[in-house]
Amino acid sequence: MTYTYDPQNIFARILRGDIPNKTVMETPHTLVFHDIRPQAPVHVLAVPKGAYVTYDHFAAEASAEEIVDFHRTVAKVCQMLDIAGPEGYRAITNAGEHGMQEVPHFHMHILGGRPLGRLVELI
Ligand code: 5GP
Repeated sequence: MTYTYDPQNIFARILRGDIPNKTVMETPHTLVFHDIRPQAPVHVLAVPKGAYVTYDHFAAEASAEEIVDFHRTVAKVCQMLDIAGPEGYRAITNAGEHGMQEVPHFHMHILGGRPLGRLVELI
């Protein structure tokens, strides 16, 4: 699989500092910031700093250091935002057309603070 990354996507511009963001946590490999259109009381986006289009791209091609940093940062953010307890949260990553991915830079949505309903309506 060949992945084509668009360096002008909105998260690339946020990572370059061209567009402001409300940062929750930043590490050498990862940035977590608040979604501009929150769908729940907690709605943040965890984004690796590397140029990865989708989750499978990141999982296949990122270094072990980037992958560990990303997941450990998500864990810290869940603790920091107080959603790691029994009430829980949802982590989602959309990919491509069927996944209705709007921004073609891999990101994980972390939502919480209210019951979130079913992920997909079963027909
Ligand atoms: P996707 O549909 O690609 O999984 O989700 C993209 C998310 O990025 C959406 O939830 C949208 O609200 C968020 N988003 C789009 N543009 C911006 C922006 O400029 N700043 C921030 N913080 N979030 C954005």
